[in-house]
Amino acid sequence: MNDKKGAPASAHYEHHHQRSIADPQAYWAEQAQQVAWYQVPRQTLETLPDGTQRWFADGQLNSCYLALDRQIELGRGEQLALVYDSPVSDQQVSYTFNRLRDEVARLAGLLRQLGVEKGDGVIIYMPMIPQAAMAMLACARIGAMHSVVFGGFAPHELALRIDDLKPKLLLTASCGLEFDRVIPYKPLVDKALQLAKFQPEHVLLWQRPQSPGTLVEGRDLDWHSSLEGVEPVDPVAVSSLDPLYILYTSGTTGKPKGIVRENGGHAVAMLYTMNQVYGMHPGDVWWGISDVGWVVGHTLIVYGPLMAGCTTVFYEGKPIRTPDAGAYWRIVEQYGVNALFCAPTAMRAIRKEDPEGLLLEGRDLSSIRQLFLAGEKLDSSTHQWLEDLTGKPVLDHWWQTETGWPVTAPCLGLEGHRPAPGSSNRSVPGYAVQVMDEEGRLLKPGEQGSIVIALPLPPGCSQTLWGDHSRYLQAYLQVFPGYYNTGDGGYVDDEGFVYIMGRTDDVINVSGHRLSTGEMEDLVGQHPAVAESAVIGVHDEIKGQVPLALVVFKDGVQQDKDEIRRELVALVRERIGALACFNRVVVVKRLPKTRSGKTLRAVLRKIADGEAYTIPATIDDPAILGEITQALA
Ligand code: AMP
Repeated sequence: MNDKKGAPASAHYEHHHQRSIADPQAYWAEQAQQVAWYQVPRQTLETLPDGTQRWFADGQLNSCYLALDRQIELGRGEQLALVYDSPVSDQQVSYTFNRLRDEVARLAGLLRQLGVEKGDGVIIYMPMIPQAAMAMLACARIGAMHSVVFGGFAPHELALRIDDLKPKLLLTASCGLEFDRVIPYKPLVDKALQLAKFQPEHVLLWQRPQSPGTLVEGRDLDWHSSLEGVEPVDPVAVSSLDPLYILYTSGTTGKPKGIVRENGGHAVAMLYTMNQVYGMHPGDVWWGISDVGWVVGHTLIVYGPLMAGCTTVFYEGKPIRTPDAGAYWRIVEQYGVNALFCAPTAMRAIRKEDPEGLLLEGRDLSSIRQLFLAGEKLDSSTHQWLEDLTGKPVLDHWWQTETGWPVTAPCLGLEGHRPAPGSSNRSVPGYAVQVMDEEGRLLKPGEQGSIVIALPLPPGCSQTLWGDHSRYLQAYLQVFPGYYNTGDGGYVDDEGFVYIMGRTDDVINVSGHRLSTGEMEDLVGQHPAVAESAVIGVHDEIKGQVPLALVVFKDGVQQDKDEIRRELVALVRERIGALACFNRVVVVKRLPKTRSGKTLRAVLRKIADGEAYTIPATIDDPAILGEITQALA
């Protein structure tokens, strides 16, 4: 990795960024011309008295049209739109834009027959099968709002979302597949509907042969046979401000936050992101490695790549064990992937099993231009390992469910790649990222604080929470008036490069010194024996907080554990200083994660402090919590 200081200036990026901040109306009106609107908006930006924005209020469009029909009109009908690769079901299926449009148009016809109208809500609770993408696009086609609930959520969480959205219809599949087991979904849906106060009129069930589900008479319908004889329907015009989807994300309370994505701003943001941030062109093969249940699944598996005329790879598998840690390299070679997105945790899992990259040997990765990583802090050790292994640029960038698209990133459509080790890069045009202290004073370059974004937010960002606007204002706009509060901490350097140090509550205070646990994790991760780690602040009688490192070793490490512990303590002492009071290192087999791969630091803190905790609904494997409690005893 080179240091960014020696890199050439990127005047083009700077020019765009300055214009986007100085005159957002003009900048985004220009970008909006990339969208094939049914009615081109004359209004660009309106700011309401409460500080929220309305983008392109009088525009009319259809997001499914933009993703499918428009691409066909542009001559891409026979180009591959979606390639489904499922090692867990041993299937590979390709869909051209023509085929995908036809399937979606018929499914949209069926939804309408089942009473779904423009403005209605539809819940999609499905594994990573193409029918999940079809369901999303079919809703968009008829102007219904979809809410995809991650297939691994338990019935209680699904019921909460059903009661909040009050959907007309619920679409599901009979099961999800893991590398070692089948997870029947239908009993989970039935249980959720028992728990929910609100009942959708119908459940549409996609049967999978691995574990077919039972239909409840009068309510449930078989997806496949219900489609027989259904006529395809055309896209309808919706208002720019009509929600395309609601996506629930966890907040600080047990009630999930329904992020609302409006059609107009979203479409402008998707085209801008795919072109200017990710540097993708029509005909390119893009692989967003995630699940449709998360924001990445919306932006980077379905809408972004399709609206940009790219082929999207739709993967139902894992980084390891389907069948091994070489799965990603196999897919890149097989489909000629030009760029991919994944979370660092996936790469750490691959590294743990195949640190030398033996499974990459003989694979042709020549198609790939870059690997984009986001979702959590990219530690420098994994970053370096991945770059060395692949010989390709590994680009860190930062965003959230709320924004729906990158806030900081290298903008490959506007500038060359400018490596900035440890940084998730500069503000994307439209975003003015700044740093504030607790009193709301703007901090200088290099000073750590809360990361905020000066209003207005660019198109595509959520401007409300479904059914709870006051919670939106409270959580995001009222903490620092005039700014959107990201909930992350970090700093910006004197060239505008942003360094994310973790959620604001991951910054710890040791004897009055503000320290980043992210920074310590980064150092710990540089030790050759360490596969991954979590550093948390735990209560200390004297110092307020002290750091505690939970460390997972790589497979096959021979070195004495106590010796490694001593080396880690010495490393942090040497690099951060004795003030960090970094003395406690506990070796564990695994770290507790959400299903989207985020380490559950708040729970770790509670366990370490001996406090009561509730098991988060998003946890991947609750059994890990018992192991951690024992290790910390
Ligand atoms: P989510 O909305 O679930 O995607 O989570 C968004 C949060 O993930 C952000 O607020 C950050 O805390 C974290 N995050 C995302 N990308 C990065 C990144 N590149 N570096 C550090 N943290 C990140």
